[in-house]
Amino acid sequence: MKEISCTLLVIGAGPGGYTCAIRAGQLGVDTVIVEAKKPGGTCLNIGCIPSKALIHAANEFRTIAEIATGGSRLGIAVGRPELDLSKAVAWKDGIVARLTSGVSGLLKRSKVKIVEGWARFRDGKTVEVETELGLQVIRFEQVVIATGSEPVDLPFLPFGGPIISSTGALELKEVPGSLVVVGAGYIGLELGTAFAKIGSAVTVVEAQAHILPHYDVELTRPVAKRLGELGIAVLTGARVKGPGPDGGLSIEAADGTTRRLAADRILVTVGRKPFTQGWGLDQIDLEMEGPFIRIDDRCRTSMRGVYAIGDVTGEPMLAHRAMAQGEMVAEIVAGHKRAWDRVSIPAVCFTDPEIVTAGLSPEDAKVAGHDVKVGLFPFQASGRAMTLERGDGFIRIVARADNHVLLGIQGVGAGVAELSASFSLALEMGARLEDVAETVHAHPTLSEGILEAALKALARPIHV
Ligand SMILES: Cc1cc2nc3c(=O)[nH]c(=O)nc-3n(C[C@H](O)[C@H](O)[C@H](O)COP(=O)(O)OP(=O)(O)OC[C@H]3O[C@@H](n4cnc5c(N)ncnc54)[C@H](O)[C@@H]3O)c2cc1C
Repeated sequence: MKEISCTLLVIGAGPGGYTCAIRAGQLGVDTVIVEAKKPGGTCLNIGCIPSKALIHAANEFRTIAEIATGGSRLGIAVGRPELDLSKAVAWKDGIVARLTSGVSGLLKRSKVKIVEGWARFRDGKTVEVETELGLQVIRFEQVVIATGSEPVDLPFLPFGGPIISSTGALELKEVPGSLVVVGAGYIGLELGTAFAKIGSAVTVVEAQAHILPHYDVELTRPVAKRLGELGIAVLTGARVKGPGPDGGLSIEAADGTTRRLAADRILVTVGRKPFTQGWGLDQIDLEMEGPFIRIDDRCRTSMRGVYAIGDVTGEPMLAHRAMAQGEMVAEIVAGHKRAWDRVSIPAVCFTDPEIVTAGLSPEDAKVAGHDVKVGLFPFQASGRAMTLERGDGFIRIVARADNHVLLGIQGVGAGVAELSASFSLALEMGARLEDVAETVHAHPTLSEGILEAALKALARPIHV
């Protein structure tokens, strides 16, 4: 095949890579993107979007099922619902197809050339791609590595048969009777909760002392309570030993006893690792930071003209971080002066209730040497939360004690994911408690909780 050359080559069309390529194309940079699978990467195909589709279907089913069994205080009566999971999965696949073809369209509209196939570095200026039509050699001036991440497996529980990753869980056509989730991070809990809501008997096994180990216990407490209400058994401080003799799982419980857990499916969600194999990292010999590619504040690697973005560069492994990096790198390649100066990368757990974190928790702020003021507003006191039948959770605001500049905002509650932009905007704008307190928040909304938390931190709360 004829060689092609370009100014910018992007490897991987996940949220990091496709955002970078679209922006570069918009800026008139001659750009090629290579993708081995489908545009959209983990996020659109097997991550953020399909998981939230499943969670939505499960929430709808659970709500109707609760009403059917007499759980409604609203005077609504319905018959017992039934779920055809294969139809829900087909609906989810339709959303994925629409979004991934949308990404292809956006790339084309930005005049980005898309090459389908597996890319491999020959050297710091050349990549070869195994395409269906043969080997395509691409020469470039600058390159962005956006190869993403993959699930970590456990050597004694390799993926296959009943042992599935999040990808396998999102493809199930039938609801497993029993499901053991290994790892109580956000992916395991999001999916475990969804399956419990559609009828699986779910057990979560976590080696650490509490669920969502990266979050403080105050934030995770409402989620732990709800898991109990949903009938999900949570075994913390427990270690998986291996598959049980009967197809289930053998674990060492926190008290040291060995237990066998029945499981039609075992979902292993113990983390994700950067995707650094099989594309010729050894040909370009980049400096690493642990398992990740080391980058600076412009996403430059240790080799001139080679950038890296997204999950392959480290935590937090989140789609919006990848996209923000991608946009920045495109502008740098186009000659703009840009550097990473974001105050906050918010994170959302789409558990039940949802958790949002932005900036520092009270504990993190203290560790960073700050004297802090903390305000917390419980949704029990929120009229809007009551009308939604969900008074669990709270909003918490953390500010410097001396000048009241916000350091962090966190929330846990049904629907708080949509408040994440307010949290980030306040932090990014360098807001003080007084700025939030003097902003009129619409009534009745959950967002009033941000106002009330700020007022509480200023020791002048109104509604609590
Ligand atoms: C179940 C699940 C739920 C998630 N939920 C959320 C969420 O709610 N919010 C959130 O922010 N994040 C979420 N994530 C994480 C999110 O999906 C990732 O952070 C994000 O996709 C990373 O983007 P990326 O561009 O770095 O890489 P990826 O999305 O992993 O894309 C990398 C792409 O590169 C391609 N590629 C790799 N190597 C080559 C090669 N040599 N040649 C050609 N192509 C190659 C891959 O095929 C892939 O398409 C979730 C992940 C999972 C698994």
